Amino acid sequence: MSETADVIIVGGGVMGASIAWHLAQRQAGRIVLLERAALGSGSTGRSVASIDGLTFQSHAVELFARSAAFFRQGDALLDAPCGFVQTGSVVLAGAEQEAGLITAVAHMQTAGVNIQLLTPEELAGLEPNMAFGGVTAASYAPQAGYADPVLTTQAFAGAARRLGVDVQQGRAVTGLRREGRRIVGVDTAVGSIAAPIVIVAAGAWSDPLLRTVAIQLDLQPVRHPVVCLRRPSTFGPAHHSLLDLTLGIYARPETGGLTLLGSLNPQVGYDPINPDGGPGYVPDDYLLWTMERLTQRYPALVRGELLTGWAGIMTISPDWQPVIGGWPDVTGLYCATGFSGQGFQISPAVGDFLAALIAGDRVSQLVPFSPDRLTAGQLLRTKQAAEPYGLLG
Ligand SMILES: Cc1cc2nc3c(=O)[nH]c(=O)nc-3n(C[C@H](O)[C@H](O)[C@H](O)COP(=O)(O)OP(=O)(O)OC[C@H]3O[C@@H](n4cnc5c(N)ncnc54)[C@H](O)[C@@H]3O)c2cc1C
Repeated sequence: MSETADVIIVGGGVMGASIAWHLAQRQAGRIVLLERAALGSGSTGRSVASIDGLTFQSHAVELFARSAAFFRQGDALLDAPCGFVQTGSVVLAGAEQEAGLITAVAHMQTAGVNIQLLTPEELAGLEPNMAFGGVTAASYAPQAGYADPVLTTQAFAGAARRLGVDVQQGRAVTGLRREGRRIVGVDTAVGSIAAPIVIVAAGAWSDPLLRTVAIQLDLQPVRHPVVCLRRPSTFGPAHHSLLDLTLGIYARPETGGLTLLGSLNPQVGYDPINPDGGPGYVPDDYLLWTMERLTQRYPALVRGELLTGWAGIMTISPDWQPVIGGWPDVTGLYCATGFSGQGFQISPAVGDFLAALIAGDRVSQLVPFSPDRLTAGQLLRTKQAAEPYGLLG
């Protein structure tokens, strides 16, 4: 192999770019990031990119809390715009989800996130256009919002480049190279690169790459459509970002008086696909399903104008939890994948923690996400033990 590096990152989505910058900050040597197409051209470029500052999964609290804090100062830290817009985020729960929401809010508060439970009067004051059927509890995170996923990826990659990372677009990795219990580099169409550390951050294409060194994670690529509508001018000021657990939808405002809308229900809008066939489009039945629910919550949006939405590819792991870390029996191989619809908002902390792990630190925050749990059949479970997680737990 003629080319060499200290670390190779496969995949130039938000995750690969964040990992590259965090590793460069730790002076991890010669780092090469290989992206087969353009930066952000995978799931990242089609992300709704909401940053809710809330998780129902106690083992993930720090990933969400740290990342939410990062996004508020991302432009300054990366010296480039990430397009963060603070919308505030409202979460609605019904009787079934109420206890979970109260616990999640307490966990996030302990981790330093500005989030509170709302009284019905406070909720009505915040959301004058909302109908409250089925809602028994609500939370509000005033500093939550969304960012521009492509700008964020470019910002991480640009900052990494300025620290010496070699970012190569248009260079696909065709296989990983392993010698016994060690990873030794990667193959590409235009030559191999030798490296003692390889990180697979290839989104929906991670599994095929890992299979080249006899590792199988059973990640499921799915198509997730996003509906887009223009709010009527009579609606007034934009609503907040919304996670409606009772109706199973999310909605967030977008610039230009638009609202982006989608399903939180794992049975609707998370359809298994072959990622090489592309993400497809927004099916009519999905559009009806989501709009029916949105207009229950905001009756005034019946007069909204439907615009063309889009679909993207998400990568769902067997327990809907990220897969981050290394393998004890393959020295030097790491992955950050299987983000199951929530990867954008935790990308800063994932990059930070993975860089620390690679530097040799013990990173307790990553232990629950270890890839080993999938090969050992020890999936993460909800507190009710028998139930697997869904999108929000
Ligand atoms: C419609 C939609 C809405 C979403 N909404 C949200 C949201 O509101 N909030 C949130 O937090 N998350 C959201 N997500 C999830 C989030 O976008 C993803 O978890 C995140 O972008 C994953 O980033 P990634 O870098 O792991 O993967 P990707 O962005 O897919 O990046 C992987 C990269 O690897 C490259 N690659 C693949 N194979 C190879 C190879 N062999 N060699 C070289 N390069 C290769 C690909 O070209 C790609 O650019 C959403 C996702 C979708 C699709």
